[in-house]
Amino acid sequence: MKNFLAPRRLLLGPGPSNVHPRVLQALATPLVGHLDPTFLNVMNDIQALLRRVFSTTNQFTIAVSGTGSAGMEAAVVNVVEPGDAVIVGINGVFGTRLAAIVERCGGKVIRVEVPWGQVIEPDTIAAALRQSSPVKALALVHAETSTGAWQPLEPISALCRQYNALLIVDAVTSLGGIPVEVDRWGMDICYSATQKCLSCPPGLAPLTLSERALSIVKNRRSPCQSWYFDLSLIAAYWTEHNRAYHHTAPISMLYALREALRLIEEEGLPARFARHQLNSRALLAGLMALGLDQLPPSDRQLPTLICVTIPAHIDEAAVRSQLLELFGIEIGGGLGPLKGKVWRIGLMGESSTEANVLTLLNAMEEIGIRSEWVSTPGAALQAAAHIYSGGDKV
Ligand SMILES: *Cc1c(COP(=O)(O)O)cnc(C)c1O
Repeated sequence: MKNFLAPRRLLLGPGPSNVHPRVLQALATPLVGHLDPTFLNVMNDIQALLRRVFSTTNQFTIAVSGTGSAGMEAAVVNVVEPGDAVIVGINGVFGTRLAAIVERCGGKVIRVEVPWGQVIEPDTIAAALRQSSPVKALALVHAETSTGAWQPLEPISALCRQYNALLIVDAVTSLGGIPVEVDRWGMDICYSATQKCLSCPPGLAPLTLSERALSIVKNRRSPCQSWYFDLSLIAAYWTEHNRAYHHTAPISMLYALREALRLIEEEGLPARFARHQLNSRALLAGLMALGLDQLPPSDRQLPTLICVTIPAHIDEAAVRSQLLELFGIEIGGGLGPLKGKVWRIGLMGESSTEANVLTLLNAMEEIGIRSEWVSTPGAALQAAAHIYSGGDKV
């Protein structure tokens, strides 16, 4: 069997995103034991850095072993017990997944559904809480990666307090790309994943819990149905001065996450958010000049994931495969009801650069010229350049 040589790829899909060479280098750091005193310092560093990206002082801030779905599972299985009512906002794939996990815990799901691409308005959530109270929790997806919709969270926290419901937030495609204010927005449980806006390989799920959530975890009527994700057991490993064995930590992945978080610290969150904003505006301007329309309403469009609908005269799958084969660029297609109807373009973390936006637009334009759906060559680059030169300031 030959060596696997990975082709050069520009990762502009819904994740994973491109990874900085310093993060790849960290993965090659020699192993130490996961209870080695030097490794415990690595964990302390990660916890401190994660609290900063989550904007929280929560003591319980850790990285769950596993991808984003492991974070989702850990967030749900620890608080939902059989018979508990949970309101789940459903406007895409990931809200649907949250509801499925709640059901597997024996929870009673109260679905608040809106069409894919829309967000769930605070009034709708207020009405659901009023009608269904008491509920154990409300679960929302901050950045719905299947549609590009940016869910407002700020007005929700007061509602959750009023009805004594925990607020669970999926910040997988938002953390490190747009503001995620765990404390200020009153989130009780928030989880993410390393391979999206944190620009680290997949394999860890950052997770933070408020004191209110922790006391619910500690006072369960029955033990958590998942032993692996039981946070009351995992807490012992992540608590300083304790560090008892639960399962072997994914040591190399934690090295990588520490380096990815150091890079974020060096850039600074405000600069990072501004970079994501600017590049998404430029990309959108270019895509519109190519005759594509954004799926979510403009004021609900995520800067980290752009979802555009495709006119019937464009062969969706053919363009994606040409982008990959001719240009080494990966973008995503639609999921579920949006299959074949949209492209999902991720501008996450390291992947969100001016060079990448212009490279993608140029490649799409070239493909469009060959397939005769681009009639004014240069329009897409011009529209993006206009944004980069300071046009249409928002
Ligand atoms: C990617 C994603 C997940 C799942 O993460 P995996 O790493 O694929 O397990 C969950 N929620 C959202 C919003 C996502 O984008």
